[in-house]
Amino acid sequence: MSKERVGQVEEIPCVRCGFTRHTIRGSFEAYWEDKDRDISAGATYDLMECNGCQRGTLRETSWFSEDPGDSQVTYWPPRKHDSPLREPRNFNELDFGSPVDSVYRQTITAFNDGLSTLAGAGVRLLIEGICLDQKILKGKVYTDQGKLVRERATGKIVLRSNLEGKINGLWMKGLISKNQSKVLHQLRRLGNDSAHALDQPPLKLIEECIEALEHLLIQVYDQPELLKRLMNRKKPGR
Ligand SMILES: [Zn+2]
Repeated sequence: MSKERVGQVEEIPCVRCGFTRHTIRGSFEAYWEDKDRDISAGATYDLMECNGCQRGTLRETSWFSEDPGDSQVTYWPPRKHDSPLREPRNFNELDFGSPVDSVYRQTITAFNDGLSTLAGAGVRLLIEGICLDQKILKGKVYTDQGKLVRERATGKIVLRSNLEGKINGLWMKGLISKNQSKVLHQLRRLGNDSAHALDQPPLKLIEECIEALEHLLIQVYDQPELLKRLMNRKKPGR
């Protein structure tokens, strides 16, 4: 029965390319029953191939006799509400499983699960983690009026080890521009609201924050190595 499904084309979103047409390449049905209690359950498993990028998806469509509503559909890799989930990217120079990589992936998992407070706090943690990893321990800070904070008695510039200071430390070390530091300060505030006021920022905004942090990771980790490769490039005609 399930063999008839093989070769059928169905519309589901692809987690990699977004293309929606998938061809069923294999299918089988599972069935389970308890005759004494007169209950039964079953599932259809479809192995599907994306017609755009060939990414495989396993779809489980399950039902249970005691739950007469719609059958339950689950996908691996998962996607929700028929829209693809965000997949973490791989960075050339950021070690898989390192603390920064791990916080990045946990933040994406929280985002994909709609856990906006945790994802918002993750945004802040990720900035903190990048500073720690880059050995940025402090930096100058500014008053609400934008004036540099100095020691009252000596006039010396005050360096603080809170996240505000560390973000400015990233800028002072030339790892980010002044404009980027302004964005990071806003991300820090959003993360603070999540962590300390249990705020639930909109998921769309969180997604934009994650994209900004992905750019930051490329800039801080991947670009210095790209620069080296470009500098060592064999010049034409030499
Ligand atoms: Zn695809």
